[in-house]
Amino acid sequence: MNRKKSLSTIHGYAARAPGTPLKRQTFKAPKLGENDVRVSVTHCGVCHTDVSAIDDYYGITKYPFVPGHEIVGYVTAVGSAASGFKEGDRVGMGWQGRSCMKCEWCLNGEEHLCMDIVKAATWDPYGGFSSSVIADSRFAYHLPVAMRPEVAAVLLCAGVTVYSPLRTYTKGSGIKIGIVGVGGLGHLAIQFAHALGFEVTAISSSPEKKEEALGFGADHFIDSNDRDALRRVEFGFNLLLCTASGGVNWEALSETLKKKGKLILVGFPTITLKPIDLVSHELSITGSFLGNRTAMKETLMFAQAHGIKPKIELMPMSRVNKAIQRVKENKARYRIVLVNKDGA
Ligand SMILES: [Zn+2]
Ligand SMILES: [Zn+2]
Repeated sequence: MNRKKSLSTIHGYAARAPGTPLKRQTFKAPKLGENDVRVSVTHCGVCHTDVSAIDDYYGITKYPFVPGHEIVGYVTAVGSAASGFKEGDRVGMGWQGRSCMKCEWCLNGEEHLCMDIVKAATWDPYGGFSSSVIADSRFAYHLPVAMRPEVAAVLLCAGVTVYSPLRTYTKGSGIKIGIVGVGGLGHLAIQFAHALGFEVTAISSSPEKKEEALGFGADHFIDSNDRDALRRVEFGFNLLLCTASGGVNWEALSETLKKKGKLILVGFPTITLKPIDLVSHELSITGSFLGNRTAMKETLMFAQAHGIKPKIELMPMSRVNKAIQRVKENKARYRIVLVNKDGA
């Protein structure tokens, strides 16, 4: 039986061209695929990726573009082949809303690396700054009952982005980690790394964030402009997780890695490193992208079990342009979540 419910139109906040403000528009509701769920959006986080995509930073944005990929809402329709969901279920989705399910990466359970990843975004055709979205049910997640919707929304992108590498690249005990950048990603990374039992040093170019970073669970704080402080932790860290997008002295930072240490990037900063440091200390550098579906579920469960919560500013979805401006100006503390009070 096809349990598809009809929905003729949706409302979404859309950019018509790169860099233009979002305007509320009506669109024909996308067709529900057999594996899809349709979700009425109650909350959607504002991620740097949304802001960059509005400006077509990645070169893949199709206009009109409705951003939004940290989505929480209620299932309103279930495709004929979708299982595990029923109308009224509270669910969340992150950046990835589907995948090809047949490339080597999908078959290997690493669907976040799908060869068709450009077509996998939840915002295709319309993202979560809207009244309703569709996604493949295999990329929709039931939420812990007690978890607040705005908390879940942020964990579904920012949360998994930092949790996944912290789990993947840490083996053994006595691990010392430097979290570079105390922002939307960094303040969550500190909480996850602390809860995972690592010794955590927050490294930021904003010394005024020290007390807050310690409050999130950092054991130490270093001002990244303080060369002496960085020298004192030479060969100190097994791993540096870089959540910052700029303002980092890479050469000074790489000296804080232990031999065989790893620098993991989850943002897109411009970096310069001296090959001699990489070679002589056998350092490595890697990127980390979101996480697979298992990591998504684990992120939610682990955060719930350990009381990990993003610090959030709630704003009505109608103020989406103001929210984007705050993110652009680096003023969000630390994450903005839009609340769909007006049916978008
Ligand atoms: Zn994101
Ligand atoms: Zn694939």
